Amino acid sequence: MKTKNSERLFEESLKRIPGGVNSPVRAFGAVGRTPLFIDHAKGSHITDVDGNRFLDYVGSWGPGILGHAHPAVVEAVQRACVDGLTYGAPTKKELQLAEMIHEAMPTIEKVRLVSSGTEAVMSAIRVARGYTGRDLIIKFKGNYHGHSDGLLVKAGSAALTTAVPDSKGVPASYTQNTLVALYNNPDSVKGLMEAYPGQVAAIVVEPVAANMGVVPPEEGFLAFLREITRAYGTVLIFDEVITGFRLGYGGAQQYYGVEPDLTTLGKIVGGGMPMAAYGGRAKIMDQVSPVGPVYQAGTLSGNPVATTAGIATLEILRAHPEYYGEMERKGKQLAEAFRERSRKRGEAIWVNQVGSLLSAFFTAGPVRDYGSATSSDTGAYARYFGQMLENGVYVAPSQFEAMFVSVAHTDEEIQKTCRLLAGDGD
Ligand SMILES: *Cc1c(COP(=O)(O)O)cnc(C)c1O
Repeated sequence: MKTKNSERLFEESLKRIPGGVNSPVRAFGAVGRTPLFIDHAKGSHITDVDGNRFLDYVGSWGPGILGHAHPAVVEAVQRACVDGLTYGAPTKKELQLAEMIHEAMPTIEKVRLVSSGTEAVMSAIRVARGYTGRDLIIKFKGNYHGHSDGLLVKAGSAALTTAVPDSKGVPASYTQNTLVALYNNPDSVKGLMEAYPGQVAAIVVEPVAANMGVVPPEEGFLAFLREITRAYGTVLIFDEVITGFRLGYGGAQQYYGVEPDLTTLGKIVGGGMPMAAYGGRAKIMDQVSPVGPVYQAGTLSGNPVATTAGIATLEILRAHPEYYGEMERKGKQLAEAFRERSRKRGEAIWVNQVGSLLSAFFTAGPVRDYGSATSSDTGAYARYFGQMLENGVYVAPSQFEAMFVSVAHTDEEIQKTCRLLAGDGD
């Protein structure tokens, strides 16, 4: 595989951009390689600047559910651009998208459009605090909610204590209101809720964890979170930035039948443009300025071009409910191919798969939380990554990310990937 052009661009980028990339996982550090610079993408494939063409299972980390550059989305965006790129004033499209979001997820009675998932979660937490008049929040170890200060935390040294920063530049005082519980572990949540009664504003959770690799909620876990938050007057926030419009048109809340108070959306909702959203019960959302006392704003919030991309994407998904079953079937086929690989090669592999999201962990498993996820052999993952890349398949350059199936992956392409996964030769 020729990588001369990517390598040259990376070298130049290192001089002008920290690490040569605008988001850390793009650096390929976890798999000991230099990143491929992408030239263009179409459907299920991306092509790099050396002309290598890959079957893509990253899909820009989630937005690409229709595949790249879907003609209807591109055309709508091109038309929208002609009408102006931004106005800083309300538009009909924002209302249209808000209605579509509500229709997909009826728990979202009112919604605010923002520009990134980070901003959505940060804002939802502020609203929950404003609504409850409480400061503390609970998050789960291994769940990712963007890079805002109070969420870049690791657990404190003792159970039941507040978190400590997981990044330089975050003052310890900014993380003192964050508590860390263990995913799929109701007792850890109960312990914190009992230790801080009447003080927890919100529990924020990825309903399917997808940022430590894919780790689904165990039977009853989300329902437990619903019950305990209700009992304590705590706001339940589902961070559906990945799962929204992916597990089904109604997201994880529909898939599992558990209703959160607030939901954050991103990735798919922007149709490939920088857009995200947070919303939920009207009573809570009416805390937001200008109706309420919680301030949140954005120059490019509800940007007309991004809103257009989101609407066009959701319109296609809404018109094709069968897509979800098809993607789930393909996800299952890939999961089975990993299991076959494990049997044939005697490689320890544990697969978690929900709908079009899956992860193969290079460990015997089961993987049900952060501890078991991080028991994976990242060296084995790096070798698998290299094997895939050399054979024209682009998967996440990290063990702790999801594999994303899109509508654009054909049966033939899935079969080809399955053969490659399960095959004996490298
Ligand atoms: C990607 C992601 C975010 C952050 O979104 P950005 O748009 O990258 O800021 C938040 N929560 C979850 C669950 C995510 O997967």
